[in-house]
Amino acid sequence: MSLELNGKIALVTGALRGIGKGIALVLAEKGADIVLNDKTVGKESDALVNQIKAMGRNVIVIKADVTIKDEVKRMFETIEQGFGRLDILINNAGSSQNKNIFEMELEDWQYIIDTNLTSAFLCSKEAMRIMRTQLFGRIICISSVVAERGAILGHVHYAATKSGILGMTKTLARTGAPYGITVNAVAPGIIETELLFKTHGIEGVEKLSASVPLGLGKPRHVGLAVAFLCGEGGDYLTGTTIDVNGGFNMR
Ligand code: NAD
Repeated sequence: MSLELNGKIALVTGALRGIGKGIALVLAEKGADIVLNDKTVGKESDALVNQIKAMGRNVIVIKADVTIKDEVKRMFETIEQGFGRLDILINNAGSSQNKNIFEMELEDWQYIIDTNLTSAFLCSKEAMRIMRTQLFGRIICISSVVAERGAILGHVHYAATKSGILGMTKTLARTGAPYGITVNAVAPGIIETELLFKTHGIEGVEKLSASVPLGLGKPRHVGLAVAFLCGEGGDYLTGTTIDVNGGFNMR
């Protein structure tokens, strides 16, 4: 196992379950010290913290709602005080709702825009402030297969945020390049998480996975692509998107 991220400090938002947890575990496996963020933190975070500590890494948990500017600011202050730097930001926190445009109210739209897009803006702004002075940084934004093909069940707010993330990624990639900051996206397909089952139900997930050449994906699959971008493999990649979808959408 390569420890190419040894000594790097990585913040993963929405990290206590699903894809965020998968990413945090792979980054720790590759040597990074980890800041786990989530908006709710309960006893269940202990197991993840212990798992990361058992790999010999430093790990802290910061409870913060990444849609709220003051909470994001406080989170980054804690990171600066605790570690003195930040090398990697993973904009992963996200949500969806099982509604199409006929069922969706402005409040629903706003909630998903804030959770999936504004959060990435707030965290990237704070992270790039730190990374600019270090002349090094890696930012990975978690988009989705729906950014390109549209949401399957009419979740127009969700699709808008996941396409929006790609525009944000490309623009930040240009802004960050002179400072040694790369910004890329990872677009997962059908990945086995709580959000997936909440959105599609068990039968829906079975039907969807049947149309994926490599079947249902795991959070670890996403984590491995993220780790590649954070390591030497990502040195000359910026503004790009890696599809982690088992062949669900081939372009
Ligand atoms: P999940 O619901 O299982 O986990 C999301 C985590 O984010 C939770 O721990 C939640 O508490 C946290 N979170 C939500 N809002 C937050 C906030 N405001 N502040 C801090 N934390 C917050 O979802 P998941 O399936 O693991 O999804 C993670 C990311 O991957 C999301 O951006 C999602 O859109 C994306 N994605 C998922 C799939 C999939 O198939 N599961 C596919 C494509 C993209």
